[in-house]
Amino acid sequence: MIKYFMPTKIYWGKDSLFKGGKDLAEIGKKAFIVTGRGSALISGALPDLHRLMKEYAIKYFHFAEIEENPELQAIHRGADLFKSNNCDYLIGIGGGSPLDAAKAISVIVANNLQNREIYEAAKIKKAYPVVAMPTTSGTGTEVTPYSVVTDKMLNKKAGFGNPLIFPVISFCNPEYTYSLPEKVTVDTALDALSHLLEGIYSLKRCDLLFPLISDGIGKIIDTLEKAIDDPINYDSREKLMTASLYGGMVIAQSGTTLQHSIGYPLTTHYGLSHGMANGVVMKSIMELFYPTVKDELQMLFQRIGISQEGFYNWLDKWVPKTEITLSDDFIEHSATEIAGSRNMAQNPKEVSLEEIKIILKSL
Ligand code: NAP
Ligand code: FE
Repeated sequence: MIKYFMPTKIYWGKDSLFKGGKDLAEIGKKAFIVTGRGSALISGALPDLHRLMKEYAIKYFHFAEIEENPELQAIHRGADLFKSNNCDYLIGIGGGSPLDAAKAISVIVANNLQNREIYEAAKIKKAYPVVAMPTTSGTGTEVTPYSVVTDKMLNKKAGFGNPLIFPVISFCNPEYTYSLPEKVTVDTALDALSHLLEGIYSLKRCDLLFPLISDGIGKIIDTLEKAIDDPINYDSREKLMTASLYGGMVIAQSGTTLQHSIGYPLTTHYGLSHGMANGVVMKSIMELFYPTVKDELQMLFQRIGISQEGFYNWLDKWVPKTEITLSDDFIEHSATEIAGSRNMAQNPKEVSLEEIKIILKSL
């Protein structure tokens, strides 16, 4: 049986916000806007939203304190402000960080969660509606039931998932990604690529998603260079945003795997961006899973018209050799943490602690 659930209403393309403005105006009485410090404005998404809010006389409070890899502490601060300003829905604008923070604030307030209770699935019974306006093409969080939060105290990054946090509406306008710096364009494309590949690796893989996976990966391979050469080319930006959306739709169903778990400590301990942390292990993970999902990967490469070697060469171009040296202590400690993460349940084969250490040592 194939089961697929994706309740997010998507408005797509230029002017998508204005096409769906009436829907937005009907969600609640006062919006809590969650952003980073600069991208919401630079991307043009926030000015558009301000225009729309004026038109519909929508009330709001703007919380602009979310940094990359959103921290639990900042999220709790946002939750307090959401309450004290009597808001009743959220609008996340930005990359995955503000969008995930909006999802987390939603459940913290709705369920009166304290400290690290966000990770206790049984405590999440309600959520305030979340609207997403992505300004990167990578995480796909605009269509996923996940949020990834970093606990600075424990120096630990971990996700939680609940169907209640699927955004109710996502406004996807590729023009909002014109302003992305080259590095963020590349890193986020690698994140989308990871999600799409994980749709093949995952034990919850589903044939229904294969066309999205192969089309999405094909788009990234064909388009990334064009988007770098000409950052304000709508067609390239739209293709990358489409691939990101497909990646989100895929992991919403199939979940993520070792490919993602292994990247989290590389971000928290060595500062690699989320997408690049996925990128540096992508080849090793493909090698590890290849024997188990050989038929699917061969079908993928055939569909997109590239050999596996050609794919590795393409990756080498975008993933520079890491300049970090992982300490033995880090490898020991993080391998155990990775092995215990919830994403590991989706791996297509049993992965030993030793195999995780070998991948880390190869960096
Ligand atoms: P991000 O962390 O949201 O943003 C990265 C950087 O790009 C920030 O400096 C941001 O600036 C800037 N930026 C964003 N949009 C821009 C634009 N249009 N123009 C110029 N600068 C822009 O990046 P992300 O890769 O999208 O999100 C990563 C987070 O999402 C990680 O925490 C990751 O674990 C998570 N994630 C979640 C899911 C999920 O399903 N929930 C899936 C994969 C990854 P500002 O600081 O000013 O905003
Ligand atoms: Fe990701």
